[in-house]
Amino acid sequence: MTVWLSSPVMRSMSEFARDLSPLENGGILLGWRSGEDRVIVDLRGPGPRALHGRHCFLPDHEWQVAEIESAFEASAGDLDYLGDWHSHPDGVAKMSDLDSATLLRIARRVSAPLMLIVAGSETEWTPQCWKGQVVRPLIRRRLVATPQELKIFDPPSV
Ligand SMILES: [Zn+2]
Repeated sequence: MTVWLSSPVMRSMSEFARDLSPLENGGILLGWRSGEDRVIVDLRGPGPRALHGRHCFLPDHEWQVAEIESAFEASAGDLDYLGDWHSHPDGVAKMSDLDSATLLRIARRVSAPLMLIVAGSETEWTPQCWKGQVVRPLIRRRLVATPQELKIFDPPSV
């Protein structure tokens, strides 16, 4: 599976990340599924009631749900929710325990969601992406987060 990330979305994430650094910023990823691949062509930011910490980010969930619905309708069902993204200012692009808990929560509602983390500072941000899947052992559900190959592409100009 390859995650295709459009270059304007990457630029926009870097700007969101830089704007609030050293606090984390984030939001949601919009696009579509092509077989196993994911194509990220749009994003949304944190929403007005999101919480931004140095080592945590809590999105404005209600706002996000409304944004996902309006993006879906405006695109006649083309744009779907693919997962979450957030920044690690001055950190590394690795999943924290909190990130794993967040991805597990998403994976209970959405099949194989993505978690994309941009780490860096100023204008230099490096993306890494994971796919979450819930496995069901006998006792309790557990998350398996697998790093995904990420490729940035330039969308055709309209
Ligand atoms: Zn994180």
